[in-house]
Amino acid sequence: MAAIEINQINLSFPAKQGQQQVLEDISLVLEQGEFVVLLGPSGCGKSTILNLIAGFTHPDSGKVHCQGKSIAAPGPDRGMVFQQANLFPWLTVRDNVSFGLRMQGAAPERVQAEVQKFLQLVGLQAFADHYPWQLSGGMKQRAAMARAWLPNPDVLLMDEPFGALDAQTRLMMQELLLSAWQQTGTTILFVTHDVEEALFLADRVLIMSAHPGRIVDEVRLPFGRQRDIETLVQAEGYSEI
Ligand code: ADP
Ligand code: MG
Repeated sequence: MAAIEINQINLSFPAKQGQQQVLEDISLVLEQGEFVVLLGPSGCGKSTILNLIAGFTHPDSGKVHCQGKSIAAPGPDRGMVFQQANLFPWLTVRDNVSFGLRMQGAAPERVQAEVQKFLQLVGLQAFADHYPWQLSGGMKQRAAMARAWLPNPDVLLMDEPFGALDAQTRLMMQELLLSAWQQTGTTILFVTHDVEEALFLADRVLIMSAHPGRIVDEVRLPFGRQRDIETLVQAEGYSEI
């Protein structure tokens, strides 16, 4: 079974004159554990596709399935990371990351163990008791990633998560993300308008054009990734981003 399957989606939004068709005949399949990048210019409808999968938006026609089930509303089976980390400023990293789990009434021991595991995944163990204002941009995004990953979603949706970071931090974050993905095996759909980023991260790149948003091409990267990430991500190597 595919992790995500989208069939012939069409979607319009109200515009100045009538309706504007934003997505036209979008179909895509994410296989279990795949890392797929959706690449296209600003305004082509990338975020709208993620919002459909997240359950924030509904199509005019067509179907969206997650693990074979039709998507009706947002749920913990689909995690999302945005360009801005959107952490609660009054909560520590630990409490931000565990927010959803605590709201569900999980036992404190379980909360503690899960937070530990996912802070470790993103290299933030030493920052559990820090507040968002004490963190760099890269660290905030790592906390947002840990929060999205903690419920162990079937698919992680990432909407230009590194778009606001400087070039060096961005590279470190890409390496960190690949390492975390390899450890968890989570299916990832990652959105960017940056070609280099797409080629660095993806198993497969879906290329979109705009007005209306369509998927016009697909590139598989048959020779594996461009770099050996194991040598790049060392235990303490990314603590300063
Ligand atoms: P991208 O993420 O690729 O930059 P978006 O999915 O955000 O593109 O937007 C695609 C198009 O849909 C844009 O033209 C945008 O203006 C329009 N759009 C997005 N959301 C809405 C909305 N809620 N109402 C009206 N138009 C929207
Ligand atoms: Mg967008």
